[in-house]
Amino acid sequence: MFDTARDETTMSDNLSRIYDVVVLGAGPAGENVADRTSAAGLRTVIVESELVGGECSYWACEPSKALLRPALLYAEAARMPGVGAALARPIDAGAVLAYRDRMSADWDDHDQVAWLKSAGITLLRGHGRITGERRVTVETPDGPAVQLTARYAVVVCTGSRAALPPLPGLDSLRPWPSREATSARAVPSRLAVLGAGVVATEMATAWQALGSRVTLIARESRLLPRVEPFAAELVAERLRGAGAELRFGTTVTHAERAGGPDDTVHLTLADGGRIIADELLLATGRGPRTEDIGLESVGLIPGQWLHTDDTFTVPAVAGEWLYAVGDVNRRGLLTHQGKYQARIAGAVIADRARGSALDREPWGRHLGTADLMAVPQVVFTDPEVAAVGLTTEEAERAGRPVDVVDYDIGRVAGALQYLPDYRGQARILVDPDRRVIVGATFAGPGVAELLHSATVAIIGEIPIDRLWHAVPSFPSISEIWLRLLETYRDRRR
Ligand SMILES: Cc1cc2nc3c(=O)[nH]c(=O)nc-3n(C[C@H](O)[C@H](O)[C@H](O)COP(=O)(O)OP(=O)(O)OC[C@H]3O[C@@H](n4cnc5c(N)ncnc54)[C@H](O)[C@@H]3O)c2cc1C
Repeated sequence: MFDTARDETTMSDNLSRIYDVVVLGAGPAGENVADRTSAAGLRTVIVESELVGGECSYWACEPSKALLRPALLYAEAARMPGVGAALARPIDAGAVLAYRDRMSADWDDHDQVAWLKSAGITLLRGHGRITGERRVTVETPDGPAVQLTARYAVVVCTGSRAALPPLPGLDSLRPWPSREATSARAVPSRLAVLGAGVVATEMATAWQALGSRVTLIARESRLLPRVEPFAAELVAERLRGAGAELRFGTTVTHAERAGGPDDTVHLTLADGGRIIADELLLATGRGPRTEDIGLESVGLIPGQWLHTDDTFTVPAVAGEWLYAVGDVNRRGLLTHQGKYQARIAGAVIADRARGSALDREPWGRHLGTADLMAVPQVVFTDPEVAAVGLTTEEAERAGRPVDVVDYDIGRVAGALQYLPDYRGQARILVDPDRRVIVGATFAGPGVAELLHSATVAIIGEIPIDRLWHAVPSFPSISEIWLRLLETYRDRRR
């Protein structure tokens, strides 16, 4: 049993309250930590300065996928015999934007607030700052500041925001950072996109499909620098085929908005090129939301990512009371990974409060081992890219020998049923000594749903010989597994 001292939770003046756990930020990471600690019987308060649900629900995953799904569906339907010709009209951008609004709950967090209540979690709206050991002050929108004391844990889940490049006159450009890219209310005729990562590539795909003429400008020599090059090439080919212009190996040296009725953005590139666009999307990375959360009060540096150990405790702060979960710890800037961390951090906090020992074995319930070995990610472009574990380049950099096994997904019967002109490729990386898979990448239409099979194979360290007994259904794209295993076997004969 916990020593929760329930009678003490509200002190005499009500501006000073004691909880077992204080969670800062109600994005997916914060909500899930709070859910776990509350379910474990710990009195939990969550502090939120904007909308309960965080970036993911209103400006990231939900709206971006609502913009992309119609684009991918349309692209596939257009290539299907008997269906393509029936698509006489382009995508109805207005209807898609309305669908996006609905999928973002019209930027109203009513339902998520109701969920917090049903889970027994107290919500305090306002901007929270750590003010010392286990203490947080919340500046509330319509009242005096509230002082919170945590008996066991303060969990920082304040997430990340778009990191903007140092372009002169940035404000007067009125650029689109990621939030504007997912919530814009009209389709610009010409959209310039700066960046080559997931946000840049997904948003270029979506807005090109909705009717913008997209020009993507990237310092890098290709799209999606963190995925296998073959996957990035397939995406670049389709994006170009859809009409987008991709300019690699250059950057913007000068940018200005014309002002007046024209109001266009004029870009000068390092390679001498000039681009005129109606909007400029900046997708050049993420930074931590830690500059104004009181880190200095506990000896940490504001504005930096919060380093944690595998229990999500911040080791630089003594006493094992400060935790960081989700984007803010930079271990995997993805909603599902933040939620995974939250489940583990919740168990750590609850068991420490009980006085129970932690299970510190890899894959034990108190260590976020998957963060280090198998972070799955789907890029929802045309075609989809789904990857987990190591890429070939990462294995090389880490000095890990791997057998690289490739197969053309377009030769799989199920893929040809999916789309007759299916183009795609799969790669697995096999540890030659242990004969287990340590990385997998699939690129092609409909591969997102294949990814979890690879994640399970990696996490379970399933021997290749056992995988032969995992029989994929015919005719489904998952028969790619059989072809990969055959290729691996034939090569070793
Ligand atoms: C365009 C885009 C698309 C994406 N698509 C996907 C996707 O398809 N799948 C996926 O897995 N991931 C996706 N991501 C990443 C995903 O959005 C993040 O990984 C996820 O939102 C991180 O969750 P979090 O809880 O750590 O932080 P956030 O969601 O950023 O939530 C942090 C919360 O903390 C609050 N907060 C911050 N400071 C304070 C403070 N001082 N006091 C009180 N509250 C505070 C904020 O208001 C916010 O609500 C995408 C990201 C972007 C930008």
